[in-house]
Amino acid sequence: MPTPRLANLIDGRLRAPRADAWLDIHEPATGAVFAQCPDSDATDVAAAVDAASRAASGWASTPIEQRAHLLHRLADLIEARLETFAVLESRDSGKPLSLARRLDIPRAVSNLRYFAAAITAWGSESHATETGAAGTGAINYTLRQPLGVVGCISPWNLPLYLFSWKIAPALAAGNTVVAKPSEVTPCTAALLGELSIEAGFPAGVLNIVQGRGPSVGQAIVEHPQVKALSFTGSTATGARIASVAAAQFKKVSLEMGGKNPAIVFADADLSETNLDTIVRSGFANQGEICLCGSRLLVQRSIYETFRERYLARVQALRVGDPDDTDSDLGAMVSQAHYDKVLGCIAQARTEGGRVLCGGEPIQLTGRCADGWFIAPTVIEGLPSSAQTNQQEIFGPVVSLIPFEDEAEALAIANDSRYGLAASLWTQDLSRAHRLASGLEFGIVWINCWLLRDLRTPFGGTKQSGLGREGGTDALHFFTEPKNICIRY
Ligand code: NAP
Repeated sequence: MPTPRLANLIDGRLRAPRADAWLDIHEPATGAVFAQCPDSDATDVAAAVDAASRAASGWASTPIEQRAHLLHRLADLIEARLETFAVLESRDSGKPLSLARRLDIPRAVSNLRYFAAAITAWGSESHATETGAAGTGAINYTLRQPLGVVGCISPWNLPLYLFSWKIAPALAAGNTVVAKPSEVTPCTAALLGELSIEAGFPAGVLNIVQGRGPSVGQAIVEHPQVKALSFTGSTATGARIASVAAAQFKKVSLEMGGKNPAIVFADADLSETNLDTIVRSGFANQGEICLCGSRLLVQRSIYETFRERYLARVQALRVGDPDDTDSDLGAMVSQAHYDKVLGCIAQARTEGGRVLCGGEPIQLTGRCADGWFIAPTVIEGLPSSAQTNQQEIFGPVVSLIPFEDEAEALAIANDSRYGLAASLWTQDLSRAHRLASGLEFGIVWINCWLLRDLRTPFGGTKQSGLGREGGTDALHFFTEPKNICIRY
């Protein structure tokens, strides 16, 4: 049977890449090729941008109720095929199918619905301005106009969730889109593209060009008709995009890497539920979530008892076939990423770290015998300055770091070039407020993790991000404000 092939979505039609070049898509759990995606090039991007440019003024003047209706319709179509999407997402990325069912796909549906609702509720400000002369004044109001064609580039770790997180506000705000999912996990975005035709989006409003970052991604970034770029991925790629965009004065929103701390104080409520959340915060989705806490800071007075309870739980995590509902962790997304994570563990050993559990690949049998599985790994004994505690590993690897007091916890947590998210476990309310204010991170969770409200600003400080997504921040990013002043 021939290998199934995905298509690009350009100008409302599913198309093969012009050069007829294809990339193999592997199933991480088995290592086998199960599909091919277009290995598109700059000519495909140019066709997509051209279609998006032609559609821009019509879409910008489409009433927001109609734009919102189409987003709701797309959400409904995805929800109706939730199981198909979940199976594809799991097969493509290696994540447990149960996680894709519970988290990735429902949240993608929520993203579309949230921005459909948000755009209809979004008002603009106006101000009555005094001029000083009796009986005269001015009314200032602000128009928020779409930018035109925007580029959306997303990574492989939460493929449909992050893809929809970008295209939903962009489309809701009246922009036309040229989007690129990761070449590693292109399947669910391709299916979303097909459903966007069924939903009734006009041709050219949403275009999806599949392929490699340095060819397709770069062509989107460089294209002069693309007015803004919303990117989620690594800090290295974000820096490249920012430098190209700067020369053309493009707006950029960059969501990048992290090295997040989870800080556990002696006064924390370490109930079974909370301990489970702390474990999940390190190992959910095989640690391949930008928000995972990979530095676990524990107050020295409880360090040893905490470590025993924590390790017992981590060792009980089941790594297995993503299709198996008992699997807590699936496979690493690619052979390259598997090799990178194992290299980081080897480096931790070289740096003098003690591997308390895991630290090795896991050899499964049967259909998963050739999959890219790594055991959940806990390391201790390394200073904050060690590479293991500084570089983003983005895998199932957590480093335990003891601290004495609040001041030391804060210093270690902030000792990072990244600043995406921190979580804090304490029952002392004053301490929680003090630390929340002092932590140099875009998100601080107190006694919880990954509790998301789509209305809140999402993003990081330092090398984790530039700008914020979510809520009205996303709508601000995807529009240009214009001040109108009328004298009377
Ligand atoms: P990546 O290699 O930077 O890739 C991200 C996206 O950029 C992919 O679609 C990639 O295409 C594309 N790309 C690569 N080179 C490009 C270029 N020169 N110009 C334009 N686009 C280019 O990141 P990743 O490995 O997929 O994702 C993991 C990273 O994402 C981690 O660092 C993680 O922390 C970060 N992340 C951050 C957040 C957040 O919200 N802050 C959320 C999730 C993930 P190809 O895949 O086809 O190469």
